[in-house]
Amino acid sequence: MNSAGLMEGASIEAVATCDVLAIAAHRDDVEQTCGGTLLRMASRGLRTAILDLTRGEGGTRGTAEDREREANEAAGILGVGWRGALDLPDGAIENTLENRKKIVRVLRRLRPRVVILPYWRARHPDHSIVATLGYEACFLSGLTSVKTDAAPHRPFKIVYASLYADVRPSFIVDITPFIEQRHASLMAYRSQYANQDAGSGLFVPEEEIRERTFAEARHYGLLAGVKYGEPFVQKDAGLVDDLTLIPVQSI
Ligand SMILES: [Zn+2]
Repeated sequence: MNSAGLMEGASIEAVATCDVLAIAAHRDDVEQTCGGTLLRMASRGLRTAILDLTRGEGGTRGTAEDREREANEAAGILGVGWRGALDLPDGAIENTLENRKKIVRVLRRLRPRVVILPYWRARHPDHSIVATLGYEACFLSGLTSVKTDAAPHRPFKIVYASLYADVRPSFIVDITPFIEQRHASLMAYRSQYANQDAGSGLFVPEEEIRERTFAEARHYGLLAGVKYGEPFVQKDAGLVDDLTLIPVQSI
């Protein structure tokens, strides 16, 4: 860990910058909500990265060290070029200037064009706070008056992964070719998802995880006329050049 409270995946090749950065509260959030999208972007030659804000020390199952090892394995399966974790407290993330600045240092180093954040209404308070904390960090990162060791950088686009929110997505990403790989990345978290005694009344049995996650992906895929999809919300309006090229059939 360095002085900025950042722990980087030891087994992951460092990249100078990235095109798409997914920021999440917990290790394994990205695998559940936008892992297929990261795989799709990587397949298009884009450079992807993941920043987890906590290390999972508050979980019922497994230690932070278990989760780090599993997160690095999952990152390899997702084909991301960089994955790091901050030291924010698991279950008690707060939107403070200090925490925004920790994210700013990562944004200015990776310089992503697109940032994926969790949707702002969520059951887990950490998720909804990260939606705001991440957005404000993206804003702060563009200010020259905020000094860090790297030049200011503001991402061009922010989208919100809304898989677990009861909200109409702005758009769907077709993850059909990547659904098995996404599932493999989630199952890399054996301390969380393999069947075991600890938390057995609290956690979904291993065999049901596949059925649930595939059903969710199928639901969102159907909304867009593809097999499996991941949903996103954007606050911005869409811009269309040619009406005849808008995808997704209406009737
Ligand atoms: Zn989470």
